Parts: sequence; structure tokens; C-alpha cells
Amino acid sequence: MSISKAAESLIAKAKEGKDLNRQEIIQLLYLPGKYSPELFVAADNVRKDQVGDEIFLRGIIEFSNHCQRNCLYCGLRKGNSRISRYRMTEDEILAITEEIKKSSIPTVVLQSGEDSYYTADVICHLIERIRKETNLIITLSIGERSLTDYKSFQQAGADRYLLKHETADKNIYQYMRPGCKWEDRLQCLRWLKELGFETGTGNMVGVPGQTLESLADDLLVMKYLNADMLGIGPFIAHPDTPLAGIDNDDMDITLRVIAAARLITRNTNIPATTALATLHPQGRLLALQAGANVVMPDFTPEIYKNRYDIYPGRKDVGSAQDIINKLEIDFRTIGRFINYSAGYRQTKYH
Ligand code: SAH
Ligand code: SF4
Repeated sequence: MSISKAAESLIAKAKEGKDLNRQEIIQLLYLPGKYSPELFVAADNVRKDQVGDEIFLRGIIEFSNHCQRNCLYCGLRKGNSRISRYRMTEDEILAITEEIKKSSIPTVVLQSGEDSYYTADVICHLIERIRKETNLIITLSIGERSLTDYKSFQQAGADRYLLKHETADKNIYQYMRPGCKWEDRLQCLRWLKELGFETGTGNMVGVPGQTLESLADDLLVMKYLNADMLGIGPFIAHPDTPLAGIDNDDMDITLRVIAAARLITRNTNIPATTALATLHPQGRLLALQAGANVVMPDFTPEIYKNRYDIYPGRKDVGSAQDIINKLEIDFRTIGRFINYSAGYRQTKYH
């Protein structure tokens, strides 16, 4: 299906990096036809121009599935009594960071539920040991903490932080995250940014009640925060949560949000998320051709991996090295290759 002249000129405007208003972003997301080729081609060109053909890898360790929050969408929620909980020790985590280093990946992402067992002191000690023993660049993804905690993580040697705003629709946010306030999430993100963390935000696409208008607002939040990394993934219903059974098999809209994010935010790092790979066998490669430039192989040990059950059916079982070898072959089929450098947001060396 071909697109109208108006749509063509809107895409051209986005491609040039001109600011888009809310209405224009909504129009981008509304473009006709599945896998709207014009939008994806434009995003892919901007990706190539701004961040090149390299794909950056981040090794992720999901070190605890305990969580004191009760997010309606997530299998780790404290109300889920069917999950078998685990916490990794500092030594276990260190052993995995050694593996990441051996794979030549320069960065580790430490992710968990919101688990106060890991106090600021415990996290800082962990950060210091990882820095000292492996020199990996450290990204944290451990939820909302105080400004003091964030400062101490930074002083201990953490460089990056991922905290998705999840949705720009405050009502949906507050419904899906009981007891949490959207403004608090935004405050945390502003603190992180002000402290100088490379800061990641992002959303879930396809949560109940979400509209294209609110997805446009998500994109405006990403732009407003000047976030450095954007995690954009489809919502996948978990059977042991209150949102069980709400199907979301629409990958197209997630890819459109990724493409629009690339056009709007230019040189950010955008992962092809595991959630997309879970939704569709080609999900990851399609995302990499719609604006994404990062992949995060999961290094969580097999004994814990399937217990980090945020949503069902997570892909990438097998050893991390097997996964990377397979990724490398996949990337080659689309003319892309792995870059084993730190992959800071490109302004730093572009
Ligand atoms: N506890 C931390 C980090 C772990 S959750 C936090 O909440 O920030 C990491 C991400 O998993 C969340 O940001 C959310 O976007 C995603 N997630 C949780 N449940 C999901 C689901 N059912 N489908 C898709 N993504 C989900
Ligand atoms: Fe906990 Fe994060 Fe899951 Fe919410 S999304 S229940 S904070 S792990």
C-alpha cells in the first residue's frame, strides 16, 4: 500500500531531524499498512547515519527475582506466590561478570526486582568489586531508589541506569503499579540524568487501555528527558498476574514505536528487546532493521534464568556464548556486525 503525499512529507521531515509535535507523532504511528516500509526504511537510514551498522552488546544478569512491588503486569510481583524466589550472592554475580568479560563484552547490566535486601551498601560493595576485578562498565536496573542511593551508586562506579517510565498515561501507570506515583518515577529519572548517569527509559507497548495518543506521549517523554537509552518492548501477559489472558500479538505497533523513537531521538541506544524476540521469531532482527542498535544477551545462570519470570516464554535459552554465536550469524544476514566497545551514546565520539 502506498502512502499519501502528506505522509511522505511527514516522514521526510522526521528523517531530517526536525521536531515533531504530538499530532505529527500520532500520524507517524497511524501510517497505513502492516510493517509500514517507508517508516522503517527512514528509521533504518537514520540509525545508520547516527549510530552506524554496529550492534552493541550488554551482558545482563538478573540477580534477584524478589520484589516488594505489585505491578499488575509482572510475574515477579510480590502477590505472585507461584514463583520460586532466588537471590544471587556477590560471589555468584562476580563469577558471571568474569564470564561476560571473557566474552569480550565490556558492559554488564545488573537487574532485579525492587529488593531491599540489597541495601545501598550491598550494591555499592558489589559495584566496587566488579569495577576492581573486571573493570566492566556497570548499568543498574533495580528500580526506584532515593537520590542518596543513586549518588552512592555513582560514587561506587556505576555509569548507567535503566528505569522505564512504562507508560506516559498516568492513570494506566497508577492502575498498573499500585501504590506508585508516575511523578516519582519521573523524578527518579531526572535525578539520574542530573547525576550524569547514562539514563535509560522506555515503555511497554500494548498494555490494556493504551492508545496511539499515549504512545506518542511516551515518545515525547523520551525526548523531554533526553534519555540516552530506550527500552521499548511489547507487553506480554503473564498467567499468574491480574493481567493474565490479555493477548498482545501485535508486533507491528512496537516496531513503529521503535522506528519513531529513532527518528525523534536520533543518536540514542535502542535495544532490540528480548520481549520482541519472545513475541516473534524474527522480532529481534526486525527491530534491528527498524531503528534498534543494541542487544542484551542474558548471562543469568540456567538455574535461575527461568525463575526470572517477568513474562512467559522468554527466549534465549542456552549458554551465553552459544547465544552470541547465533546472534552473530543472524546479524550478518542483515549486513550488521557486533562492536565490542563500550557503546556510549554516540555524541561522545561521533
Ligand atoms: N524492577 C525493576 C527492573 C526489573 S523489571 C523495574 O521495574 O524497573 C524490568 C522491565 O520488565 C520493566 O521495566 C517492564 O517494562 C518489563 N516488564 C515487566 N513485566 C512485563 C510484561 N508482562 N511484559 C513485558 N515487559 C514486562
Ligand atoms: Fe517488581 Fe519491576 Fe516487576 Fe514491578 S516490574 S513487579 S517493580 S520487578
